Amino acid sequence: MKKVNVVIDGRSISVPESHTIIMAAKELGIEIPALCYEPSLEIVASCRICVVEIEGSRKLETACSTKVWDGMNVQTKSERVIKERRQILQLLLDNHPNDCLTCQKAGECLLQKYAYEYDVKFGDESSEIDLKVDKSNPYVYRDESKCILCGRCVRICAQIPERSVLCFANRGTEMKIAADYDKTMGSSSCVACQRCVSVCPVGALMDGRLMGRHRSWECEKEHIKCTVCQYGCDFELLKKGSKIVGVRSMAPGGGRPLCLKGRLTNELNYVDMSELAPVYMKKGEEYVQTSWVEALALHRLINRIEKLEER
Ligand code: SF4
Ligand code: SF4
Ligand code: SF4
Repeated sequence: MKKVNVVIDGRSISVPESHTIIMAAKELGIEIPALCYEPSLEIVASCRICVVEIEGSRKLETACSTKVWDGMNVQTKSERVIKERRQILQLLLDNHPNDCLTCQKAGECLLQKYAYEYDVKFGDESSEIDLKVDKSNPYVYRDESKCILCGRCVRICAQIPERSVLCFANRGTEMKIAADYDKTMGSSSCVACQRCVSVCPVGALMDGRLMGRHRSWECEKEHIKCTVCQYGCDFELLKKGSKIVGVRSMAPGGGRPLCLKGRLTNELNYVDMSELAPVYMKKGEEYVQTSWVEALALHRLINRIEKLEER
């Protein structure tokens, strides 16, 4: 692959010509903020928070979608760039509930991180915005009021054959993410794989089983591989003190996020007994609490093992 020389924030690097600015910057250890961009997903350049200034270009360009060229000179933190990013963040925060104190995503939320880094505060009306919580699916907790419409969840759900549960609905200020055009997560055709949860940058989609169980800064994370099938999906154990309090799917870049069966098997295997949450299965249009044996379809296996042992 042909390489090109670029200068980013005064530092030179030689990268393949297929690289975008955000990729080249990353190789230099320069972080460009991004909300809609996720390396494993199609690039849409819709949030525009990754804008940068390129010498010779009149308008700001999005770093996630602009390819590098030989001799390119990029500024990622110029006054103009910072001003544009602050305006985007202000617009997002003005339409976002002021709920960081109790939000499960706090500490891992990209909106919170960038608001801090760019010194942007919630608007006065933010505390008046009501949460719009959908708890109908015990594995995927959704809060529409926190959605920033980055579309990551739509793109990742569409990667699952015959799924595409999530889509954009309505227009303008009414735009939102809908499940099967406008069902609850529980009654939709969602298979609770949690891929969307793993890529949501804010608290709009979260793991329903981990709500209220930990604060991100309290937990150490340990990367493990699932051994339930040959895919060997990657996921994390959440350790709080001496206890393992949860298991969660990793972002796609780190591996293939889990199926629900793998996820539950690993939960049963690793999570401290006192921390295990009840399990649910979908029956008809609703999730109902069930036993671990039923959720993991172990009846037949257990029967056969018992018979073998009798023999
Ligand atoms: S999603 Fe992020 S910005 Fe919104 S309340 Fe939660 S932590 Fe705060
Ligand atoms: S959990 Fe999986 S199937 Fe359900 S909406 Fe998210 S990505 Fe789609
Ligand atoms: S639910 Fe999350 S991932 Fe989906 S569009 Fe909203 S903020 Fe983005």
